[in-house]
Amino acid sequence: ERPERYNFAAGPAMVPAEVLAQIREELPSWGDTGFSILEQPFTGPLFKRLMAEVEDDLRGLLRIPNGYHVLFLQGGASAQFGLLPLNLLQPGQHAAYVESGHWAGKAIREARRHAEVSVIASGADQAFTAIPAFDQWRLDAGAGYCHITSNETGNGLQMQEFPRLAVPLVADMTSDFLTRPIPVERFGLIYASAQKNLGVSGLCVVIVRDDLLRVPPPGLPSVFSYAMQTEHLSRLNTPPTFALYVTGLMLRWIRHNGGLEAMAAAARVRSRLLYEYIDGSRLFKCLQRRQDRSAINVCFQLADTALVETFLQDAAQNGLANLAGHPAAGGVRASLYNAMPVAGVRRLVSFMTAFERQHG
Ligand code: PMP
Repeated sequence: ERPERYNFAAGPAMVPAEVLAQIREELPSWGDTGFSILEQPFTGPLFKRLMAEVEDDLRGLLRIPNGYHVLFLQGGASAQFGLLPLNLLQPGQHAAYVESGHWAGKAIREARRHAEVSVIASGADQAFTAIPAFDQWRLDAGAGYCHITSNETGNGLQMQEFPRLAVPLVADMTSDFLTRPIPVERFGLIYASAQKNLGVSGLCVVIVRDDLLRVPPPGLPSVFSYAMQTEHLSRLNTPPTFALYVTGLMLRWIRHNGGLEAMAAAARVRSRLLYEYIDGSRLFKCLQRRQDRSAINVCFQLADTALVETFLQDAAQNGLANLAGHPAAGGVRASLYNAMPVAGVRRLVSFMTAFERQHG
């Protein structure tokens, strides 16, 4: 009999079965319109209502305070890497970044194409196995914002707490958005691509505090101006309509399953099962500092690196798909987003136990 399959991809990632079923059911005709969601004009009252509901649900789940705008943009988180300095910095300001791993590095390199950047703390000298502690951050005066990456998807690191800073805190939350409650009021701006925890690619959510909106500098296309998109309710151009629809279903799924507290509790259960097994294993090892380990992307190595390929192939044959580590890190990565049931992690742990017995 074919084993049940689990998808451990880092993104685009697993979508809950209930959400897939609803998309399938509704695809030919959305509501009683007689037309697919793929065919709905974004300027029509029905689609405007959908966008308003997505925003309301997001505000409710994250308890977003007044004074913050929610934007639905395209270009992914990678576009924001460049758009942050262009939108947020005032003349004469530079940007401060915490280099916590692969994705922070990408954000820094892109920001440098547009502005002066200072790296105020880096985990590079520890090979990105730990998040630099707050007391090592050297935040200087004159920084327009300080950028962090709440979860390093490829390095398996996650910030457990967020600092209070004198400058606006800006966070790439792409890989752990909506997996736990967060103190939104501590941030100037939060952004996340949708294809991990809130549906499909093509949509990037940006939550920005009102006082950070400013007249776009010359050279910045209007559709990439946070201020202009705010003014036009993210409809300055055609928004990613299908992605917004799927995000709406995902938000409802999260709410029906207990909200962000429940998501965080489930993430703890899943990741603990896996980390505890790895820590007791002689074949598998996790190099990340315990308090900085990600509850979402569990990254680990095999003591015998020659076994990695065999492991990944055997796992795939056993229905455990897409476990390869990030290309820059190698090894194994199990991405455990909201949609991953604990049964998937149990299956992975029993597969690893059998593999270790055979090869250990
Ligand atoms: N930041 C983080 C933390 C990510 O994990 C990713 C995607 N893996 C990105 C940014 C880039 O997202 P996108 O490809 O949607 O631009």
